[in-house]
Amino acid sequence: MDITLVQGDITEQRVDAVVNAANSSLMGGGGVDGAVHRAGGPEILEECRRLRDTSHPHGLPAGDAVATTAGRMPATWVIHTVGPVYSTSEDRSCILASCYRRSLEVADGLNAASVAFPAVSAGVYGWPMDSAAEIAVRSVQEASNTVSEVRFVLFSPDVYAAFARALG
Ligand code: ADP
Repeated sequence: MDITLVQGDITEQRVDAVVNAANSSLMGGGGVDGAVHRAGGPEILEECRRLRDTSHPHGLPAGDAVATTAGRMPATWVIHTVGPVYSTSEDRSCILASCYRRSLEVADGLNAASVAFPAVSAGVYGWPMDSAAEIAVRSVQEASNTVSEVRFVLFSPDVYAAFARALG
């Protein structure tokens, strides 16, 4: 698996699937979530609503992932994953690792060869960026599946630098 780092906007990536740092409601939000729905258009929210009405009546739990269309974005699919909110009293690293693992499993099921990830939980959910980067890189390196390219798309130079350190 080829792992690359890009500083930029995840909604502009020409990959098979872009990962959204969603929240459990699947009904949209700020940060990556807001950008994905703005760029992809209303089709994404319609599919999210359908998932809520059928397979996920209680929302999507942290650490899990589901796919929808990418609407108007260059990608074909959006894989929505819900990161854990950072906690100083409880180690939630396993949940964050699960976001990457489950997203890649979903990508595998779609036969997606290239997947772009944002820094899940490193925004509003407050995860310290060096730790978020280490967990992201390790989880992807340890995953066994047929995805051939993982692209981490980092919005800001400091998060990009954290991922570059984690990748060595
Ligand atoms: P979470 O709620 O999981 O913390 P956020 O969306 O708040 O997710 O932030 C996750 C990371 O994604 C942050 O580093 C944020 O700066 C970054 N980010 C925000 N918008 C974009 C975008 N359009 N493309 C890539 N990364 C983005």
